[in-house]
Amino acid sequence: MELIKTPDGAAISGVLMNDMRTGAFCFVKAKAVLVGTGGGPTMYKYHTPSGDKSCDGLAMMLRAGLPLRDMEMVQFHPTGLIAGKDTRITGTIIEEGLRGFGGYLLGGDKERFMHKYDERHERATRDIVSRAMLTEMRAGNTAQHGGLYITMKHLDHPTVSKMFKGMVERCADCGFDLVGGDVEVVPTAHYMMGGVEFNVDCTTAITGLYAAGEDTGGVHGANRLGGNGVGNSTVFGGLAGDAMAKWVPLEGEWRDPDLAAIDAALAYCHHPFANKPANLESIREDMFEFMWDDAGILRDADSLTRATGKLADLETNLNQLGVDGTNVAYNLTWHDWMNLKNLILVSRSIVKAAEAREDSRGAHFRTDFPETRDLENSWFTRVTFDGGDMAVDRVAVDFSIVKPGETLLAEAAAELGQTRNLSYSSS
Ligand SMILES: Cc1cc2nc3c(=O)[nH]c(=O)nc-3n(C[C@H](O)[C@H](O)[C@H](O)COP(=O)(O)OP(=O)(O)OC[C@H]3O[C@@H](n4cnc5c(N)ncnc54)[C@H](O)[C@@H]3O)c2cc1C
Repeated sequence: MELIKTPDGAAISGVLMNDMRTGAFCFVKAKAVLVGTGGGPTMYKYHTPSGDKSCDGLAMMLRAGLPLRDMEMVQFHPTGLIAGKDTRITGTIIEEGLRGFGGYLLGGDKERFMHKYDERHERATRDIVSRAMLTEMRAGNTAQHGGLYITMKHLDHPTVSKMFKGMVERCADCGFDLVGGDVEVVPTAHYMMGGVEFNVDCTTAITGLYAAGEDTGGVHGANRLGGNGVGNSTVFGGLAGDAMAKWVPLEGEWRDPDLAAIDAALAYCHHPFANKPANLESIREDMFEFMWDDAGILRDADSLTRATGKLADLETNLNQLGVDGTNVAYNLTWHDWMNLKNLILVSRSIVKAAEAREDSRGAHFRTDFPETRDLENSWFTRVTFDGGDMAVDRVAVDFSIVKPGETLLAEAAAELGQTRNLSYSSS
C-alpha cells in the first residue's frame, strides 16, 4: 500500500501492507525493499496488462518523493483484440509475429492502408503502426466496433494455424476466424518505458530502497523492442538481488518508521469509508476515454491541457465517492478505489511529462510538434510530486557510450566511416 521511510525521510523503514483476505493492515519492517510491481498502463481505454496492474509501485514511489523519468513514453501495441464492449478480453494482444509473418492490416473499407504511412507497411515499428491505425480510425475508416482489421487469409492456412496456434484459438474462443477471416483490432496501451530514476545496481535515492523491471525508467529510452520487457525485469531483478544481498549484511539496519506516515497512509486508505457508497465504474470509464483521446497515441498542447483538467475533476469526484466498509475482507470495490487513486496520480505524471516534451520521438508523438529535435542536445523528463503539485524538469542526456549517429556494430561503423573505438566497457 505504501513505502514507509524513517522520520528524516532518508532511508526505507519498511512497507505498509494489506492482507486482501481479511482487509487487515500490517507494517513489515525491512532492512531493504525492492519495488517490482510492474507498471502497466491500465489507465487507457484499451490496454494489454491485467486489471490488477494499477501502477501501484510508481504511485508509491511518487508519494515517497522519488523522481520518475520518461513518463511520456507509453508504448502502444498495434494489435489488441476487439471482442465487444463488455469483455476484459478486449485490448489483449494479437501477437506481433502475425504482421511479421505477412499479415495485413485493413481499414473498415477492407483495404490495406499502411503504404500511406511507412515503406515497411505492416512491419514498421509499433509506434509508427499504432499512429497510422489511430489516424485511420480518426478519419472514420473503421470496422463495426470502431477498430480496424488484421487478416491472414491470403497466406497458407495450415501454416498459419500451426505457427500461431494460440492466437488462432484465442480468436476462435471469441468467435473470430484468424486463419480465413478478418479479426477486428485496435492499438492498445502495453508498456511504460518511464519509471523511477535508479542506478545500475538498482538503488534509488532512498537508502535501502531498490527498484527493478517495468517500475524503472531509462532502460529502453523512448521506445522498447519486443522481448526487452522480460529481459529488463530478469536482468535487473537479478542485479537487484545481488546488490541487496551484498548491501544488507554490511549496511542494512532495522530502521524505525515514521509513525505519522503510517497514520497518514491508513487515513488515506480508509478515506472512502466515510462517504456514501457509490458506483466507481463511471470514474474508470471517464479515465479510460480521456486518457485514450487526450493523452494517448497522439497528443497536443490542447488535448494535454484538457487531460490535466479532467484528471483534477476525476480526483475530486473520486474523493467524494464512498465505499461500503462494513466488510473489508476481499472488498474489491475498496481495492478499486485505491487502484483508481494510483492510476490518476500516475496519469498526472504522464500528462505532465508529455506537456514538457515539445517534440516527437519514440513512443511520444505531439501533433503540434511532429519533428524530433536535435539528438545531440537530448534531455529526458523528470517528474516529482510534493504531495499536492507535480513538477517537471528537463535533464540533459549524458551520451557516455554511444553518441547519436554512432553504432556499436563494427560492420555498420565501418560503413559510417567511424574511427572511434566504441567497444563496450563497463567503466
Ligand atoms: C500481455 C503482455 C504480453 C507481454 N509480452 C511480452 C513479451 O512477449 N516479451 C517481453 O519481453 N515482454 C512482454 N511483456 C512485457 C513484460 O511482461 C513486462 O514488462 C514484465 O513482465 C515486467 O516485469 P516486472 O517484474 O517488472 O513486473 P511483473 O512481471 O508485472 O510483476 C509484477 C508483480 O507485482 C504484483 N503487484 C502489482 N502491484 C502490487 C501491489 N500493490 N502489491 C503487491 N503486488 C503487486 C503483480 O501482481 C505482479 O505479480 C508483455 C506484457 C503484457 C501485458
